[in-house]
Amino acid sequence: MSVKVVKFGGSSLADANQFRKVADIIKADPERKFVVPSAPGKRYSDDIKVTDMLYSCYELSASGKSISEQFEKIKERYNGIISDLGIELSLQKEFDEIEYCLKAKSGRDYAASRGEYLNGIILANYLGFEFVDAAEVIFFDDNGAFMLDKTIEAIRERVKDLENVVIPGFYGITLNGTIKTFSRGGSDVTGSIVARAVRAKIYENWTDVSGFLVADPRIVDNAKVIKTITYKELRELSYMGATVLHEDAIFPVRTAGIPINIRNTNDPSAEGTMIVSEETGEEINKTTITGIAGKKGFCAINIEKAMMNGEIGFVKKILDILYKNNLSFEHIPSGIDTMTIVLSSASLEGKEEAVISQIRKEIQPDHLEVEHNIALLAVVGRGMYKTRGTAARVFAALSHARINIKMIDQGSSELNIIVGIGESDFEDAIRCIYNMFIEAE
Ligand code: ASP
Repeated sequence: MSVKVVKFGGSSLADANQFRKVADIIKADPERKFVVPSAPGKRYSDDIKVTDMLYSCYELSASGKSISEQFEKIKERYNGIISDLGIELSLQKEFDEIEYCLKAKSGRDYAASRGEYLNGIILANYLGFEFVDAAEVIFFDDNGAFMLDKTIEAIRERVKDLENVVIPGFYGITLNGTIKTFSRGGSDVTGSIVARAVRAKIYENWTDVSGFLVADPRIVDNAKVIKTITYKELRELSYMGATVLHEDAIFPVRTAGIPINIRNTNDPSAEGTMIVSEETGEEINKTTITGIAGKKGFCAINIEKAMMNGEIGFVKKILDILYKNNLSFEHIPSGIDTMTIVLSSASLEGKEEAVISQIRKEIQPDHLEVEHNIALLAVVGRGMYKTRGTAARVFAALSHARINIKMIDQGSSELNIIVGIGESDFEDAIRCIYNMFIEAE
């Protein structure tokens, strides 16, 4: 029988009511055999995630203060869920041990990991599934690097005779026995690893939105859900600021060709977004563009010098200066006698004067200036490949909205068109491109 791995985020497990929805979803499909839970998240907008409460216990303990009050609140969250679910379970033994370890300063990652650990025990009990501690099967080396092969082997061995399993997300153990977490949101990564290990036919990632949206819903009202997106497109959109899934959650399933389905716990009938490999993705979803994303906070170093294009090593000298100043650039659009380096303003902060004077000294430009408050916007879509007129439509939309384009870049893969515009035009630019492609198609 094929199996599915289902990961539930913090908002999906924030209280007993959410636990019930999760159990209904799992019980509705017998293939949903492997469950990866997060720690309880926010129940309302100014609520505090259990993970954050645990981090603050760690901070308190590290600075020699009492954790009692804060730890009491954490116990209340879990005991509340247990009593509302009406299950026979006491976590007293676990609470005592955790409190002892927190006081004994067992480490920041240890503290944070207990959120998933305790939630996993409750969920396993409620579902009647086997609980497998992530510290038994998810491994990091002594430098903290995740060990994929050892982990896959350990998961396969540990679950080989088990029917239905709960493995808490977010953490694992180093070879020297210390608990270590992935970065924030890392339960997504655990889900992906488990999916790879058990050769799942699909990795369902259940959250509180009905999938990846074509554009940021804070900018575009009622933005449509992307039905299918390829891993590559997802990478482009995530890099440009669209977030639903932890970036590292892609690699374990991608090589194994396991699709990820983003689903909504609060609307299980919605199909969500399917993240697939490039080959599968080509046939489905024939819209020209898949998504639009962007970020503010860039600047451009504009350089002009007569006969620049004939001077061998010109660009190298500039790149050397960036390298020496530990600066990474985003784009380098260039003309015959001009070139621009686009990079994040934050990275240039405190270095601007030095970098500019080094460029002046090294290449003696005719003109050199730094322009701030630039936004970059990426229009991403595998449907653009060899489709005529996509760029024309992007520029027409921007021109109708009277938006000035400062920079244009299109990768050779024809998967995206990136434009640089003024920050004040950012929201309008996203809306007009959305209307041009999504509303019109
Ligand atoms: N609970 C962790 C966090 O808040 C990990 C996760 O939810 O994926 O970041």
